[in-house]
Amino acid sequence: MQRFVLLLAFAVLLTGAAWLDTRAQTDGAVVSGAHRFQKVADGIYYATASGTMNVGANSPIIVTADEALIVDSSITPAAGRALAQDLKAVTTKPIRYVVDSHYHYDHSFGNQVFDRDAQVIGHQNTLVRMPGSMQQFTYLNSVRPIPERVAGLKERIAKEADPQQKTALERQVASSLAYLEQVKETRITPPNITFNDSITIARGGREMQIRYLGRGHTDTDVVVFLPKERIVATGDLMESIISYMGDSYPEDWIGTLERLKALEFDTVMPGHGVVFTGKNKITVFQQYLRDVIAQVNAFRKQGLSAEDAAARVDVTKHSGEFPQIRGVGIDAAAVRRLYRLAQDPNAGPTP
Ligand SMILES: [Zn+2]
Repeated sequence: MQRFVLLLAFAVLLTGAAWLDTRAQTDGAVVSGAHRFQKVADGIYYATASGTMNVGANSPIIVTADEALIVDSSITPAAGRALAQDLKAVTTKPIRYVVDSHYHYDHSFGNQVFDRDAQVIGHQNTLVRMPGSMQQFTYLNSVRPIPERVAGLKERIAKEADPQQKTALERQVASSLAYLEQVKETRITPPNITFNDSITIARGGREMQIRYLGRGHTDTDVVVFLPKERIVATGDLMESIISYMGDSYPEDWIGTLERLKALEFDTVMPGHGVVFTGKNKITVFQQYLRDVIAQVNAFRKQGLSAEDAAARVDVTKHSGEFPQIRGVGIDAAAVRRLYRLAQDPNAGPTP
């Protein structure tokens, strides 16, 4: 009898493991066109790129009984249209709300696709920041280096012997060149509804709180918090990877993240990277910010240029939580930003 029970337990373990394995492979995700939709909870999805086009940021999707809300409209009108089309694989509910997590191009340049039929909601500062953003460093740096990068990729393709690698490189060239074409269609379309502190949408059985918690990644960042589901969409205020700092307010960011941690959630759907749980990653990112600020300030006082300082900042001790950190040195745009804020703590976006 005992032996039978043991065997049975073993059989359950085996089938259980096999089942888990399948789940891990498929992730319950649906691939549709340019997107992959990961189910995070009932009616809540996380849209990421499937690899066929440059879609920019990841978009959390919240479906209610009657309609859908998407966080971030993608990097171009073409990518925004693709998102609306691809989303039909997981819901046929109309997209009635689009939340701009902040003004950056890779999150908001698809707005014009949704402006007529949806309420495009963002912080009041997004209305102020979006119009100039196509002439600023952060956006221009997404297009200006492409020709050189494509030339480099083409050289590698010419030398590549492995056909699979070659195909992958060719796809990169194609999507980079397509992006250069797709950006031409962009008409800056700021949110059509703005707020300063918070706005709550209570529709179709969901409560969706859109909140501004203070300056951080930019001065326009908002989060979408679902108290009942204990889920928060954070844009670039908190990513599973190290956030871009070129337009940030790093000193304020630490306190803003403290206010984020005060919300009662278990799951984070970030603007880039992957869905993660818990608050430890946020605490480590706060330590990372403190560390970057302290080291950069010290180098600045020693008279180092921003570029030299950037090469020397050592944040490798945070690589456990952020494995993208592979050695000494950080993005020079982050250091230039801190140098500028030392002159003017209320500086606008990097020109
Ligand atoms: Zn951003």
